[in-house]
Amino acid sequence: MTSEQVDWQEKYQALARDYEQLVRAKEASDLRGKGLAGQLMFGLKGQSPALDLELQQLSEQLSDADPGSGFNRVFRNIEKQVKLLESQRLSVSQQLRVGLEGWLGQLRELSDSEPFSNVLKCTERRIPEATAHLHKLSALLLEIVDLQRGLLPETNEAAYALNGRQDAADLDLELLESRVAAEMLLLIEALNVESAGLSLARKLIQRVESGLKAVDIPEVLAQLVQLARLSSGIEHREFEHYLLNLNEQLAYVQEFLTQSRAEEGTAFAAQQQMDVRMREDVSRLQQSVHTSTELAELKREVALQLSSIVKTMDEFREQEKAREQRMELRYQSLLDKVDQMEIETGRVKSRMEEEQLRARTDPLTGMPNRAAYDDRIAAELQRWDRYSTAFSVAVIDLDRFKTINDQFGHLAGDKVLRLVARVLQKNIRSSDFIARYGGEEFVVLFPSTGLEDARAASEKLCEAVAASPFNFRGEPVRVTISLGVAEVHVGDLSESLFSRADAALYQAKERGRNQVVESTA
Ligand code: GH3
Ligand code: MG
Ligand code: MG
Repeated sequence: MTSEQVDWQEKYQALARDYEQLVRAKEASDLRGKGLAGQLMFGLKGQSPALDLELQQLSEQLSDADPGSGFNRVFRNIEKQVKLLESQRLSVSQQLRVGLEGWLGQLRELSDSEPFSNVLKCTERRIPEATAHLHKLSALLLEIVDLQRGLLPETNEAAYALNGRQDAADLDLELLESRVAAEMLLLIEALNVESAGLSLARKLIQRVESGLKAVDIPEVLAQLVQLARLSSGIEHREFEHYLLNLNEQLAYVQEFLTQSRAEEGTAFAAQQQMDVRMREDVSRLQQSVHTSTELAELKREVALQLSSIVKTMDEFREQEKAREQRMELRYQSLLDKVDQMEIETGRVKSRMEEEQLRARTDPLTGMPNRAAYDDRIAAELQRWDRYSTAFSVAVIDLDRFKTINDQFGHLAGDKVLRLVARVLQKNIRSSDFIARYGGEEFVVLFPSTGLEDARAASEKLCEAVAASPFNFRGEPVRVTISLGVAEVHVGDLSESLFSRADAALYQAKERGRNQVVESTA
């Protein structure tokens, strides 16, 4: 349809007026009137085959010198056809209006930018006019097609958008991997492995710290199990069970990410499919606008294409909504799993720490035990090797403790041990370390302390115990200790240092007890 074509209803009215004029001019054989009517008739052609037929007859009547009564009949027929066309036009206009409004409604949901919504409002206001006067429809349609095109992502843009989502998924995975890596480092730390597992623990830490990949997790977990076996004081079965559980949950996380990617692939395919269908619909619409010569046919075409466009968009949105719901559900359950995993990790970690503490604590006195001392002295010897920071140890033994036990009973002996432990603990510096080495023996580690100062600190301990008023069942109990002190030497091992201090302790006993002897070896 071209823009020169004016609305055919107006043309029909002009033709009717022309006809009146023609009838009036008939007698005068007004050829000018005939010529005008002929031009208008030409303009009316092409609305419907029936009308064309009547127009043809009118044309013949006009060329007749005396049209007579046939003229009125032809004109009545034309009027009938025009009325029919008018009622058809109204119904299709209505259809078009609904379709176009639906289409704009869809576009509105695709973008919520303010300028775009203003443009849409403007376009919407022109719908009634454009659907009533079809020569205005093509401009409006082309405009909406342009709006639509502006909103549809180009294929490569869609691919870009997908890549963006892929990156986001990778980011999710990386985040999870780093969270799992952090948990694992905490676990390795909490395992507090003994010397046998140290090198494996170091390797494992290096591996986890250098970037843990999801695919490596099962193997790293297997090594963690191995490490747990090497560490003491842990209920292995329970820990293994926990790790297996963790592995299962991580498998779930991996599964989620795989499924998410598959979903994204489906969404991309659906988006592309919609894009293709929309393009086809829009281009068919454009083609109809450009090529249709018959208005009624054009109207039908346009209404059809519009309903197809609206349907495509509806379907796509339904699919998208369903996909989003699925993703949301799965994501929520994933979050629950990860939360559960973290809670469980936290629980196991604190239980392991408790066990560790228990394994390194003497139950009678509540102070560190021999295992704890072994760890501590190993760390101190390493520092000594690296920085040559001297330190000393004192080995302490209760004097004639057997007699106390014999005299007052074993329970009294235990009580004395607890009291001595408290006095010793109270009289050392917070940087010093004391442990119950076994039986009625204690050992004190004086970090960054030479022999002289260690001896002085030991004297203080000896005096403090001797000065403490011990009583059992109202009877005063005399309790003293003897101490042997030694300073670390180059090349010392934990055992060699201890045995020098022990030798000094032996001398203190020899020299009459309740005293300190420093090692001269
Ligand atoms: P010395 O001055 O030569 O060290 O004499 P001693 O009697 O302390 O030496 P000995 O090694 O012969 O005896 C140590 C005693 O300490 C023997 C043991 O029954 C007692 N003992 C060791 N551990 C405990 C304990 O946990 N509770 C009690 N009540 N007694 C203990
Ligand atoms: Mg002893
Ligand atoms: Mg003793």
